[in-house]
Amino acid sequence: AHLDRISAVDSDLHAFLHVAEDAALATAADVDARRASGEKLGPLAGVPIAIKDVLATHDMPTTSGSKILEGWIPPYDATVVARLRAAHLIPLGKTNMDEFAMGSSTEHSAYGPTRNPWDRDRIPGGSGGGSAAAVAAFEAPLALGSDTGGSIRQPAAVTGSVGVKPTYGGVSRYGAIALASSLDQVGPVSRTVLDSALLHDVIGGHDPLDSTSLPDAWPSMTAAAQAGLADGALKGVRVGIVKELNGAGFQAGVTQRFDETVAMLTQAGAEITEVSAPNFEHAVAAYYLILPAEASSNLARFDSVRFGIRVDPADGSMTSERVMAATREAGFGPEVKRRIILGTYALSAGYYDAYYGSAQKVRTLIQRDFAAAFSQVDVLISPSAPTTAFKLGEKVSDPMAMYLNDITTIPANLAGIPGMSLPIGLAPEDGMPVGLQIMAPARADARLYTIGAAIE
Ligand code: GLN
Repeated sequence: AHLDRISAVDSDLHAFLHVAEDAALATAADVDARRASGEKLGPLAGVPIAIKDVLATHDMPTTSGSKILEGWIPPYDATVVARLRAAHLIPLGKTNMDEFAMGSSTEHSAYGPTRNPWDRDRIPGGSGGGSAAAVAAFEAPLALGSDTGGSIRQPAAVTGSVGVKPTYGGVSRYGAIALASSLDQVGPVSRTVLDSALLHDVIGGHDPLDSTSLPDAWPSMTAAAQAGLADGALKGVRVGIVKELNGAGFQAGVTQRFDETVAMLTQAGAEITEVSAPNFEHAVAAYYLILPAEASSNLARFDSVRFGIRVDPADGSMTSERVMAATREAGFGPEVKRRIILGTYALSAGYYDAYYGSAQKVRTLIQRDFAAAFSQVDVLISPSAPTTAFKLGEKVSDPMAMYLNDITTIPANLAGIPGMSLPIGLAPEDGMPVGLQIMAPARADARLYTIGAAIE
């Protein structure tokens, strides 16, 4: 049924870069055979899933939305993909994304944009717009995304889906093509909080192949979500509204739905307070130095030799440096080049302290803002994004406008804490979905599922 749905709508939406029809049907048949023979399978066995193209898959091309990796089939699976297979989920294919996960609209994909299923003239968010659109359009019940500065939560928000960025280190990054290694986290996209919890339980937990993977034993996210469905789950929960992540610059309908949710929380017995995080005003600036710095280093591996395409210089000068330059010139799109240049500049001798060093100090201040806030409340809430889905083409030639859209989601990545976006209705002025963001202290992902399920 999902493959039929993909054939019916995806030529319009372009959520998928690759559909693995034969493999999906073979896996489904295998699940049926196992069930018929009485094998006990997990709760998500036989459930189809879409996979963001940033994740390595040994049987499907993996491009990270870039021309430079066109046609590349990795020799191995990302740990999260291996865990999906072990739990007998059915990979349907790979989803579209901004090139190397740089963007908030999926318009920076080298393979053309994805459209928002709610309004095809609007963006589905980014960078994981393909995964969110696939879930919102019923092409897949579940998807995997990656979130470095909001790429799971913001697409979820603008497509009316649920998306979770786990605690940094909670889900393996092994086989996730690196954007900014200190910020990247893989996580679930779904239509309900409970669905994300089920998927989180499959992909999460320690992985010796990822040196930043936490050794912790995690509670069941599924049980946490189910606890949220019980009566009175919100009673006495201390909820902080982040003053800096609302108000001026936020779309009226977004603020309206957010305020209604706050009223509902009060009604349900939650204790609401306003908290201030004074350093968040510098979060976007710090992020757009730290991210390009790490990305410029990570993307140095695309050197025409080890991965992907090779382009020989037109003038026939075949030194390794010239071949590398010609390949990177042809293989990377404008946003990727912009960030490599920003990052190498910020890291260069003489500028390092002024830019990268200062940004790291701001990062510490933001972590302290969170620590102070979480000494008073259990969770923090804000709108997931300042606006609903904007129109295709509206911000694509204005990088600053695109970057500023990330204000709500970036602080959680800088602090390594978990965040969830869930739908809270449609904005009256444009009929587009609005998302609520919930943030919890590091390692308290389960709290997001309890509170998220209770609100939903
Ligand atoms: N929009 C952010 C950026 O462009 C988020 C990216 C991400 O989370 N991968 O960097």
